[in-house]
Amino acid sequence: MATGKINVSVENIFPLIKKFLYSDHEIFLRELISNATDATLKLKHLTDIGETDVKYGNPVIEVKIDKEGKKLHVIDQGIGMTKEEVEKYINEVAFSGAEEFLEKYKDSAKDSGIIGHFGLGFYSAFMVANKVEIITKSYQDDQAAHWVCEGTTDFTIEDADKKERGTEIILHINEEDEEFLEENRIQELLVKYNKFMPIPIKFGTKEETLPLPEDAPEDAEAETKTVDNIINNPEPAWTKQPTDLEDKDYKSFYRELYPMQFEEPLFHIHLNVDYPFNLTGILYFPKMTQDMNIQKDKIQLYQNQVFVTDNVEGIVPEFLTMLRGVIDSPDIPLNVSRSYLQADGAVKKISSYITRKVADKLKSLFNNNREDFEQKWNDIKIVIEYGMLSEDKFYEKAQKFALYPTVDNEYYTFDELQEKLKDNQTDKDGNLVVLYASNQDEQHSYIDAAKAKGYKVLLLDSPIISHLLQKMEGEKEKISFVRVDSDQVDNLIKKDEEKISKLSEEEKEKLKGDFEKVIPKEKYTVQMEAMDSDAAPLLITQPEFMRRMKEMQQTGGGGMFGMGNMPEMYNLVVNTNHPLISEILNTKTEKKQERLIKHSLDLARLSQNLLKGEELTNFVKRSFDMVK
Ligand code: ADP
Repeated sequence: MATGKINVSVENIFPLIKKFLYSDHEIFLRELISNATDATLKLKHLTDIGETDVKYGNPVIEVKIDKEGKKLHVIDQGIGMTKEEVEKYINEVAFSGAEEFLEKYKDSAKDSGIIGHFGLGFYSAFMVANKVEIITKSYQDDQAAHWVCEGTTDFTIEDADKKERGTEIILHINEEDEEFLEENRIQELLVKYNKFMPIPIKFGTKEETLPLPEDAPEDAEAETKTVDNIINNPEPAWTKQPTDLEDKDYKSFYRELYPMQFEEPLFHIHLNVDYPFNLTGILYFPKMTQDMNIQKDKIQLYQNQVFVTDNVEGIVPEFLTMLRGVIDSPDIPLNVSRSYLQADGAVKKISSYITRKVADKLKSLFNNNREDFEQKWNDIKIVIEYGMLSEDKFYEKAQKFALYPTVDNEYYTFDELQEKLKDNQTDKDGNLVVLYASNQDEQHSYIDAAKAKGYKVLLLDSPIISHLLQKMEGEKEKISFVRVDSDQVDNLIKKDEEKISKLSEEEKEKLKGDFEKVIPKEKYTVQMEAMDSDAAPLLITQPEFMRRMKEMQQTGGGGMFGMGNMPEMYNLVVNTNHPLISEILNTKTEKKQERLIKHSLDLARLSQNLLKGEELTNFVKRSFDMVK
């Protein structure tokens, strides 16, 4: 037996390793399985190129718990190491790697991001073990070696009698880390980090129910068989060529990724580049809800089939973090802080590549089956609209497929919409005026009124729509978006002749005065307008600008925070051609007139959903009294 000293320049490396990323202790297992995988793949390569004539066979990596002995074993059938290789790779290379890594990152170790996910390698075993053994037999050597280190700089190495090729790592688990002797915990870690690694990983056994033979009697009991519990799928869909996959393969991979997700994805995007960076992956569009935040952090980042993180912020553009799926790239630097990551040239390229791919896919879906795309629009619009708002490149591309649905379920692209509206919906300066509703129920009477005048009304109901409209008005010339209940609707040039008012100017003046006496001036501006006699007698509209600023304040962004609360302001439009208005004008008793105005105003407010609380209760009471 030989003893020796690991060549140390930093005496306290072991305490450092133990402390390193306390919450991330669990990564030791992934590191050891990565090494075992590498060793197996190296052997595969050597046999593939005919460098050796040992039989590759069907190697597995086995993880075993010895609860009584308080040991955890990781066993591979890879290339193994000779005694000299152990001295070299473990005592020198691995050690210096760990040392360098810790030196570099110990200060930033608290960063909970991707930092520290890779690089510690073999020595991360000492985060959870006070003693580590390696028993290994090289594919080239008859003599196996046994290395032992007890978490100090001393180690021993001697001959061992291991017969099979490969390496067994034995961890003597610390008392405070005994969670890693629990089957459930190890199973959980294996599934989290190694679910898609390229070499089969065995952890214990499981019972499998055998299918019943066709002619089995009704009450026959299915037989079970004990089989190896293989953790991983070594050939996940993203590692295959898109041409080798069918739609059902993508769907079943989705279920593999999200076993608790019952809804099917709407469509997928297969990513596959090898220049100027390496990246593969599959992204899925799930059905989106209006709440953007709850659906983030579902994309998983892998590096050569090893799970790294499900926080892809900085790598995937923000608006696409609502998608699901995996991306796998050896080119994403993981040992760096997030701010560095975002400035990294390669990462920027990856991010814009993903944006482009998503835009291309959406465009081809739109071109190939517009009807289907329209049907899915409601479920995907939030991502697209968010993307248009936040990424200029995407905004440009989206012009080809972003849809503007009407309240009657017609879908137009922006160009088509422009064409449709140009003859009928312009203001006096020739600017296009696009009418939209944000809620079909609440704005029902306004939608009806606009449609009666022959206008098209869009239904735009995403939470961020006011931001997007603001952006579009800035980018596109000669256009404004106006909500159906807004005062700006009046700016539209009506095709039909101006309605003639039945009332004289003096009568209008008087009426205005009567109204202003009764309603709160600081909230309402009274306007007289001649409309059809069967249109509503009173209409409340909102200043478009004011309302939109308020909405943007609520959804944030665009520098809208901290503007203070804007006052509620409305216009009260009085239809001078309505019989009720004439009646109000001609009512001589002041009290009765006041009652008529108040009650009509309440009705107008009710139709705009503005009547609430005590006022609503009083209104209902008053109405009942009137009925009886
Ligand atoms: P890295 O894997 O990043 O090179 P490690 O510290 O994990 O660093 O391992 C150092 C070296 O030890 C590896 O490069 C490899 O040569 C050797 N090694 C580690 N684990 C195994 C194993 N299971 N089988 C064969 N060689 C191994």
